[in-house]
Amino acid sequence: MRAVSLHPDVLVVSSALLRANCVIVRAASTAGEDDAGPVRVRKVPGRPEGEAFVIDSPVLPEELDALPALIEQARFPPPSGLLATHADWDHLLGRIAFPELALGCGESTARRLEQEPGAAQRELRNFDEELGIERPAPLSLGAVQTLPLPGRCELGHRELELHPAEGHTADGMAIVIPWAGVLVAGDYLSSVEIPQLNAGDRIDQYLETLERLGRLLDAVEQVVPGHGPPIASELARNVCEEDSAYLEDLRRDGADAPLPDTRQTRVARAIHAQNVQELTASGS
Ligand SMILES: [Zn+2]
Repeated sequence: MRAVSLHPDVLVVSSALLRANCVIVRAASTAGEDDAGPVRVRKVPGRPEGEAFVIDSPVLPEELDALPALIEQARFPPPSGLLATHADWDHLLGRIAFPELALGCGESTARRLEQEPGAAQRELRNFDEELGIERPAPLSLGAVQTLPLPGRCELGHRELELHPAEGHTADGMAIVIPWAGVLVAGDYLSSVEIPQLNAGDRIDQYLETLERLGRLLDAVEQVVPGHGPPIASELARNVCEEDSAYLEDLRRDGADAPLPDTRQTRVARAIHAQNVQELTASGS
């Protein structure tokens, strides 16, 4: 597990498996020293001030185990909430590290969790079995908190911007951390993967999401994809354009669609083959 600071208030923890990213974001509880204003946060020695959220999750049990200590060492306050960008199992494991916290997610994700009860747990079990991973307890999602999309979510005296991001799956949420200039994209804009259609023919939705994310890129400097390294927004824009072109080609040419220039890899070929299957299965 690797931790990288993108901004004094934003920490990215990357899992050794699936290159999955978990983002920890904090904000002071009142207007504080990070603002020009006269109000200052009174520092209590020993306990970092403010509020923090954990977005998505690392994958390995020992990484989830180590997450609370890592957050403390980074002098971030203990998290008060969890957010998930979408309902794929590998983004839902925050409750294993913080079983006392509620999981917040967009409306579309709450709906999917309700419609597919136990799906995340099943997929996690399959994944663990295949890799011989043992976990002390099964995943329990608890009461899920539904967030309207688009919308805002308070964090201390700051606000996170929440945007719908569907197409990879039937659900999805992208999160902008405006004061840090960071976009947490969910499973989009990865520089190591290509678009993955996990729920049939969602090319139109995926293209709409890319257009929306493209607009959000104007206001940020850095992007954290669900998988793969955090990237500068200029590179993310290139990924965004290549991904749109790939999806247009995929719709027209199916299996013959060329892969994006920057991602002619084995991983990309495997995802492409899956996409072709999804399209065939959904009859388009
Ligand atoms: Zn994922």
